[in-house]
Amino acid sequence: MDVVFVGAGPANLSSAYHLARLVNKHNRAVESGEREGKALGEIQIAVIEKGSAVGSHILSGAVMDPCGLAELIPDFVAQGAPLESEVKEDRFLYLTKKQAIRSPINPPPLNNHGYYIVSLNRLTAWLGEQCERAGVNIFPEFPGAEMLHDESDRVVGVRTGDKGIDKEGKRKPNFEPGVDLRAKVTVLGEGVRGSLTKKLIQRLGLDEGREPQVYSLGVKELWELPDDRYPAGRVTHTLGFPSDQWTYGGGWIYGMQYRILNLGYVTGLDYRDPLIDPHAEFQRFKTHPFVAKLLSGGKMIRYGAKAIAAGGWHAMPQMYADGVLIVGDSAGFLNAARLKGIHSAIKSGMLAAETIFEALLVDDFSAAKLQSYEERVRQSWITPELRRYRNFHAGFRHGRWLGMVSAGLQYITGGRAWGIFDRDHQKAGHEAMQKLSAYGYRGDDPVQRYPDLRFDGALTFNKVTDVYHAAVAHDEDQPAHLHVLDTNVCATRCAEEYGNPCERFCPAAVYEMADNGNPTVREGAGPRRHLQINFSNCVHCKTCDIMDPYQIINWVTPEGGGGPDYKGM
Ligand SMILES: Cc1cc2nc3c(=O)[nH]c(=O)nc-3n(C[C@H](O)[C@H](O)[C@H](O)COP(=O)(O)OP(=O)(O)OC[C@H]3O[C@@H](n4cnc5c(N)ncnc54)[C@H](O)[C@@H]3O)c2cc1C
Repeated sequence: MDVVFVGAGPANLSSAYHLARLVNKHNRAVESGEREGKALGEIQIAVIEKGSAVGSHILSGAVMDPCGLAELIPDFVAQGAPLESEVKEDRFLYLTKKQAIRSPINPPPLNNHGYYIVSLNRLTAWLGEQCERAGVNIFPEFPGAEMLHDESDRVVGVRTGDKGIDKEGKRKPNFEPGVDLRAKVTVLGEGVRGSLTKKLIQRLGLDEGREPQVYSLGVKELWELPDDRYPAGRVTHTLGFPSDQWTYGGGWIYGMQYRILNLGYVTGLDYRDPLIDPHAEFQRFKTHPFVAKLLSGGKMIRYGAKAIAAGGWHAMPQMYADGVLIVGDSAGFLNAARLKGIHSAIKSGMLAAETIFEALLVDDFSAAKLQSYEERVRQSWITPELRRYRNFHAGFRHGRWLGMVSAGLQYITGGRAWGIFDRDHQKAGHEAMQKLSAYGYRGDDPVQRYPDLRFDGALTFNKVTDVYHAAVAHDEDQPAHLHVLDTNVCATRCAEEYGNPCERFCPAAVYEMADNGNPTVREGAGPRRHLQINFSNCVHCKTCDIMDPYQIINWVTPEGGGGPDYKGM
């Protein structure tokens, strides 16, 4: 291949599409004598995707600012881009335990007039079709498992994952080894907390001098409503209930076509209380009288969860190295104040394509040449947008109210934080989690943060029921793709210190401390429980890799094609 894109998300598909068109246009112009120079000939462009189809692992809100797509495909509406509705109404609510107080003004970052509500799953599948028409090769069910480097550490491609390995690590009759896809440039567009991106950043020190990335987790459901009580095109955002004031969080409710309600809740993955459970926070959100009334008589039809890179400008790594570029959420292009990353993912992909096109013309794929990608980002509209909100998330580490004050001041002053609201930037999110003892909990106490929460199967659902609605499928006879580097910590130190938060922060019931039959840890009878990993439930949200307090969980790609199927999400 000439160029390999890892991940078929909006960033990489936009990049592959734009590159294919630039090359075709150049070749035509040279052949017709309009442009001097050499034609590039046939440039082989491949996109590999771990999901079973383009879009199957894509989960988003989503309200899309169309500015990115309009640059890529100016007549995207006429071309039939799948759009749910234009945004016709914006609402911002503050939720107390019982009341929903509508703000007379919409916070400016959440002004969505002229934007579109979309199912990003559908939009991504459509982008995939545009790519194929432009001559891009797309390979679903091919996870990028390892970067390929040459002797001087240049990236020279990617190795895809093996297929047909059983849970003991032995080859099954259908064994197929991974393929080495060698390329002049490899583009990482794996989305949030990319497994290859994480390793590459560590290996090449691409985050040197940058702040650690911080994340949130979005948990969402689609509901079928019995009537037109919530029109397509209405967008509601909420603050307040059920988050406590030290936990960054908020809800969204978007009206889609055919009486489908799209709602979800974001919890900052820098929460303090180790007993917080983002899935339970979302279930509680639905019990608020305002939300429960909206949902009454409706039916939950889909579920999903995914992390969001919220660190913004300060947390973006160096996005180029020899033979490689990083685009979209993998590089942290998301604007957390607006909860928007689709437009900038598309734009970053386009800028990467323009950089690669120039590199192809001079046959130079060194870091020195690819560096112009960052220059392009700096000169584009992405930079003023991200700089304006550069201290947004950090402000909320001082609690909800100071966070809001700081967000308002930053909006007026172009992002300034005066060294007050931004001083917590240095901490990664998992470091904010406090030990059980700080809250007066004990490791083996049956204390619950959510004593009143019941999963009634009508309004609220437990994780297993929800996971069923994510249509997750993994072949169970394969090695677990969640590597816990030291399981001894789980039943002893982690149980004592944090009460095994993996059971709670995972929104898919993957981690379970199973009973060993031993009475207690403290009586010296050996660990009472052991970690059981139900990896087949995994929805690929990456929360465990992010939030584990000891940073000993490593998420790697499972066998190709496994995972959720986020149709319509
Ligand atoms: C809950 C939630 C709500 C959001 N709401 C909005 C919103 O309202 N508006 C908005 O603009 N943005 C929103 N966003 C952000 C938006 O979804 C992202 O910014 C955008 O999807 C980023 O695109 P991407 O191409 O970088 O990554 P992704 O969309 O994550 O795509 C990455 C793709 O790469 C694949 N992949 C990953 N690793 C590998 C590998 N190793 N090998 C092969 N394939 C791989 C994945 O399966 C996936 O298909 C939201 C995000 C979340 C999670």
